[in-house]
Parts: sequence; structure tokens; C-alpha cells
Amino acid sequence: MRTLQVRSHKQFECINITSQVQKLIKDSGVKDGIVTIYCPHTTAAITINEGADPSVVKDLLYELDKVIPLRDNYQHLEGNSAAHIKSSIIGCSESVIIENGSLVLGTWQAIFFCEFDGPRNRKVFVKIIGK
Ligand code: ZN
Repeated sequence: MRTLQVRSHKQFECINITSQVQKLIKDSGVKDGIVTIYCPHTTAAITINEGADPSVVKDLLYELDKVIPLRDNYQHLEGNSAAHIKSSIIGCSESVIIENGSLVLGTWQAIFFCEFDGPRNRKVFVKIIGK
């Protein structure tokens, strides 16, 4: 398993980690296989969405914040329940096919680390399986 260090700079932020994941695949020498990208945090997530236009993930964060407001009648005393809920909705991992040593993504797709309770130093676990 490999670990990416991700530094978020805002409370809510989607950080494109595609090139970092691709570099780990290249370094591994795996040509055909699967990569799992896993977020070991309860107030962050991993998603795949459009990377060409940065407005897409901004809209994603904007709408999530409307649906899951920062303040509500939450019981969790730490005060970051909205971030926990967003983490569960988006999910903590994605798996992507590797072919010819490259991620198989759609033309407009990118892999994002989603920060919901930043800024913080975060980790992303990456497991590459194949030959
Ligand atoms: Zn909490």
C-alpha cells in the first residue's frame, strides 16, 4: 500500500489527485490491474467527477452545503456533523481499472479528494493490484 499526503487549504475543497495516483501506478510498474483509492478520514471522501472544468466540483460542494447545512439540530458534540454526513454520502473510496500502465478514466473524469472539514493535513491510501 502507498500513501498520498494531501493538504487542504479550505473548509470545503475538492482536490484533483489524478496525476499523483497515476504516478504511483507508473512507479509500481503495474500494467494491468486495479487501483483502489481510499480515504481513511470520517470527514472527507473520494469521488470521480469532471476535472476539465473546476466549476463542476465547486457546484458539487455548493449544493452539498445547501442539502447538509453546517448548523442544524445535530447531536454530535464535535460540531462537524455536516462533514461526517457528506463523507458518508460521497463515500470513502473509488476503484479504477489500470490498462497499459494508465488509469482508465472517461475523457472528462478526474479523481478528487473531497475535504469537508478543512483545512487539514490528510492521507489517501492507494492499493495497486495487478501485474
Ligand atoms: Zn466529528
